[in-house]
Amino acid sequence: MYNEFVRFVRELYNTDDFIPLHAPRFIGKEEEYLLETIDSTYVSSVGEYVNRFEDIVSDYTGSKYAIATMNGTSALHVSLLLAGVQHNDEVITQSLTFIATCNAIRYCNAEPVFVDVDRETLGMSPSGLSDFLTENAEVGDDDLCRNRYTGNIIRACVPMNTFGHPVDINSIKSLCDKYHITLVEDAAESLGSFNNDVHTGTTGKLSALSFNGNKIITTGGGGMVLTNEEFIAKRARHITTTAKKKHRWEYEHDDTAYNYRMPNLNAALGLAQMESLESFILNKRNIAKLYSEWCSENGVTFVKEAENTKSNYWLNAFLLDDRMQRDDFLEHTNSYSVMTRPAWTPMHKLTMNKQCLSGELKNTEYLVDRLVNVPSSVVLND
Ligand SMILES: *Cc1c(COP(=O)(O)O)cnc(C)c1O
Repeated sequence: MYNEFVRFVRELYNTDDFIPLHAPRFIGKEEEYLLETIDSTYVSSVGEYVNRFEDIVSDYTGSKYAIATMNGTSALHVSLLLAGVQHNDEVITQSLTFIATCNAIRYCNAEPVFVDVDRETLGMSPSGLSDFLTENAEVGDDDLCRNRYTGNIIRACVPMNTFGHPVDINSIKSLCDKYHITLVEDAAESLGSFNNDVHTGTTGKLSALSFNGNKIITTGGGGMVLTNEEFIAKRARHITTTAKKKHRWEYEHDDTAYNYRMPNLNAALGLAQMESLESFILNKRNIAKLYSEWCSENGVTFVKEAENTKSNYWLNAFLLDDRMQRDDFLEHTNSYSVMTRPAWTPMHKLTMNKQCLSGELKNTEYLVDRLVNVPSSVVLND
C-alpha cells in the first residue's frame, strides 16, 4: 500500500522531485501587483491594496467587515480581545488544533479549556461541548457564564475548521447562545469552505483567517479579522494600528494597542491570490476526489466533507488502522520524498497545557493515532 501511494502521488504531481505537503501557486497577477506596489512606494501599512484585499475577502465570505492583519495569530488575538476575553477567563477550544489557537488565548492571559472533536468533521464536537457545559457551567444573574468549580468566567468558545472541513457551527452557536458565551471562530484553514452556503467564520461574533505560506491562499504572512458588527470592526481597525486617533499631523493614541496591520506589499499578493481562489478550490476538490477513489481501492479511510458542507479540502487527510500503521506510513512516504505529516500533538499533551481543564477527549486521541495529511498543493497542468 505504501509503495502504491508513493506512485500515485508522483503520478498526480507528475514529478520525481520532492513533493511538499502544500506549496503556494502564483498563476495570476501577483508580479504585476507587487511591482505596482513598489513603484507606488506604498509598501507598508498604508495603501490601496490593503483596502482592495479587504473588500474582495469581505465580498467573497459575505462578512460585512474584514480587517487585514500581519498574520492569523494576531487576527485571533484581536478577535479574542474584542470578544472581551481577559485575565483569568476560561476560553473553550478543541484540543485538536494548531498551537496558534491556544497561544492567542494565552496572550489574553486567559486559560484554554479543551473539548473533544467529532470524527466526521474533525472540528469541535457539539456533544462534547454540551457535556462540558452541563457539568461545569452556570449562567449567573449578571448574565455571565461561570465555571461553577473554579468561579472563573467562561468568556468565549473557539471552534476550528480542521484542514478546511467546516465544523458543525450551528449546533455550537446554539450552545454558546444558551450559555451566554461569545463565539469566535478559528477559520484560519477554511477560506472557501461553507456550511449550508454560509462561509465558515461568519456565524460567530468574530473570526480569524490566515494567509500564511502553507494556507489555501497566501500573502507571505497575513491574516484577517471577520465580523458583521460595525463597532467591532472599527475597534479592530483601531487596535491593530496603534490606537492612533485620526488627525492630519498630531500623534495621539487613546489606548495601548498593537502594530498588527498587514503591509500593502502582502495585500498586493493577497489580492492576486484571491482572484485565483475559485480555481484553486475546484482543483483541490478534484484532488480530493482522486484521493478518495484511491483510498476506497486500497482500504484506507478518506476524510470527507460532512453533509451539508462544502470543504476547500485545504489538506487532505487519511485515517489509518492504528498508530503503528500511521508511523510506518509516515516513515515510508517521507523517506521517498513524498511529504506527509501526522496531526498536531493535541494541545492537552503539551507541557504548558498539562494543568488545563478538559472534557473527554476520546475522538481526539483516536484521530491523532490514525490521521495523516497527504500532499495537497494545487496541481499545475501545463
Ligand atoms: C495557520 C493557523 C493559524 C494562524 O495563522 P498564522 O498566520 O500562521 O499566524 C491559526 N490557527 C490555525 C488552526 C491555523 O492553521
